[in-house]
Amino acid sequence: MSPNLPETTAALLQRLGVAGDALGGGTLAARTPITGAVLARVPETTPAAAEAIIGRAQEAFLAWRRVPPPRRGELVRLFGEELRAHKAELGRLVSIEVGKIVAEGAGEVQEMIDICDFAVGLSRQLHGLTIASERPEHRMMETWHPLGVAGVISAFNFPVAVWSWNAALALVCGNAVVWKPSEKAPLTALATAALFARAAARMGDVPDGLLGLLMGGRAVGEALVEDARVPLVSATGSTAMGRAVGPRLGQRFARAILELGGNNAGIVCPSADLDLVVRAVAFAAMGTAGQRCTTLRRLFVHDDIYDALLPRLAGAWRSATVGDPLAEGTLVGPLIDGAAFAAMQSALVEARAAGGRVVGGEREHAQDWPDAWYARPALAEMPAQTDLVARETFAPILYVMRYHTLDDALRRHNAVPQGLASSIFTTDLREAERFLGPEGSDCGIANVNIGPSGAEIGGAFGGEKATGGGRESGADAWRGYMRRATNTINYGRTLPLAQGVRFDVGD
Ligand code: NAD
Repeated sequence: MSPNLPETTAALLQRLGVAGDALGGGTLAARTPITGAVLARVPETTPAAAEAIIGRAQEAFLAWRRVPPPRRGELVRLFGEELRAHKAELGRLVSIEVGKIVAEGAGEVQEMIDICDFAVGLSRQLHGLTIASERPEHRMMETWHPLGVAGVISAFNFPVAVWSWNAALALVCGNAVVWKPSEKAPLTALATAALFARAAARMGDVPDGLLGLLMGGRAVGEALVEDARVPLVSATGSTAMGRAVGPRLGQRFARAILELGGNNAGIVCPSADLDLVVRAVAFAAMGTAGQRCTTLRRLFVHDDIYDALLPRLAGAWRSATVGDPLAEGTLVGPLIDGAAFAAMQSALVEARAAGGRVVGGEREHAQDWPDAWYARPALAEMPAQTDLVARETFAPILYVMRYHTLDDALRRHNAVPQGLASSIFTTDLREAERFLGPEGSDCGIANVNIGPSGAEIGGAFGGEKATGGGRESGADAWRGYMRRATNTINYGRTLPLAQGVRFDVGD
């Protein structure tokens, strides 16, 4: 069993530079899903304070936009150094706060480091085109300028990495950032902000308020979304959240980067390497206790190999160690809270009622930790892709279905509202290329012989349809954080007009 978590957490937070008064006397209870214990009571941001924080960020932006981008990159480089130096501590705090196993907590911080490195390089590569003009002695070009205050709303399950994908790019692009972290993960946000403050102090001339933090739930998120001083909001969370946030941003013509729910599938073809499939499917479906947006939730298995694969998957599901995520050897930590467990159970009841055959799904460790919610991952063999299967239940449930023709598997693969991540397992080149082609997967992420989760920051991340259409990371994501201007320059003495228009005015 993990040592006294409130004490361990307090010590970690201190080492990460979080002041004690940020942790007590507030109304936001920060809990660990490992035991259900309250770790701290964080003060929430009042509407007046939110207004002031956004105002300070706006002021900071006015100064920051004048700083040359490579110098802005220096701040992100220093922040990356802080993250490197504190990777183990921050990673452990991620594990404590949201229940990821230690390797995944550290992996989340590694992803922050990776995007910082990426952004530092990018700070010398913010470029526009020069464009041929139809007019003599004219030149056209595009220039990219900082946008303003970038709002970031993040989900509990990647409490810090997804913020960093946005923030590292937004900062080198010359923006200020105001962050509304998940109300289920306030501590990692405070720790990240403290490391950022250290980096800013080391650099010396960073304007105050360049990173603002709004602590609390939906209401303070709404304040960020409604604020006319915030021209861009990147919001990560459920599709329901995106349905509320997207139209509000649209109303005021603000930009939205929406990273919403997924319902990711894999297709296992007859030629697939089943050893690899078992490992890939186990990680993608059970990793992070099924609480990744890219978690594998639906698996279409060809008739010819179904009976060979299913017992192997069932074996992996039975043998995965569910328990304390800080303990060595654990593969599956707790669900975030009782509501997540209840949603899982009600999905399994519905699966059985629809004729599904379910193994797993039981609560574990209730005796040891009555206030925590551990569940054995569930494998549900389904006769059809019911409404239940087409919904995202944010828990470790893998629905398995048979298929006979690839056409049919592809049709069912795409017949859900979400469009985030997808995989095909095959050694047949034709099948793989069909999956990646225009008639194949309709997702933002389509993989071959690897599960749908565990993306690298070098590629654009995001999905289509009810996943929101946003993209973060990858080669050109930076453009989303800048405004683009087209410039036409006349270096001659005449004034030819475009499209041959004549407008001869006398004087
Ligand atoms: P959630 O929708 O409950 O909350 C996400 C964030 O949005 C929180 O910070 C919350 O306070 C805020 N919020 C909620 N309603 C809001 C509103 N009306 N206005 C402003 N802010 C609001 O999601 P969650 O339970 O924290 O995370 C799980 C969900 O997030 C899953 O659906 C998962 O698939 C999705 N997710 C998607 C991605 C992606 O990149 N596509 C990444 C991680 C998580």
